[in-house]
Amino acid sequence: MSKTSRNTIARQKILELINSKKTAISHSSLQEELEGVCDRVTTYRVLERLVNESLIHRIVNVNGVVNYAPCQTCSHKEQHIHQHIHFSCISCGTIRCITDHPIAITLPENYSATEYQLTIAGTCPECL
Ligand SMILES: [Zn+2]
Ligand SMILES: [Zn+2]
Ligand SMILES: [Zn+2]
Repeated sequence: MSKTSRNTIARQKILELINSKKTAISHSSLQEELEGVCDRVTTYRVLERLVNESLIHRIVNVNGVVNYAPCQTCSHKEQHIHQHIHFSCISCGTIRCITDHPIAITLPENYSATEYQLTIAGTCPECL
């Protein structure tokens, strides 16, 4: 198999896995689920590319681990514009996007927001 088609398969599989989750997924969990489809370096490169293409976004969990979740409203040509909360469960360790509860935050004059990095820690519905 050529390198290009291997990368295409890795990309499809990674995007599929991220889109199939209700919660964000970390690089290491993703690597486990890929079951040898590609190595860590390839996974890393694919993730970088998907972030650049506005298909997924990064979320830093309360424990400092970077997770990835699908983008719903970002387009290829624009930058990531996220105005949603991320909820980090202290019990099961999952992190998810809360996109159906829009947030309205007011900033002082002459401050212009491009991205919101809001992570709330607590207990998720499954653990409550
Ligand atoms: Zn995005
Ligand atoms: Zn939980
Ligand atoms: Zn998100």
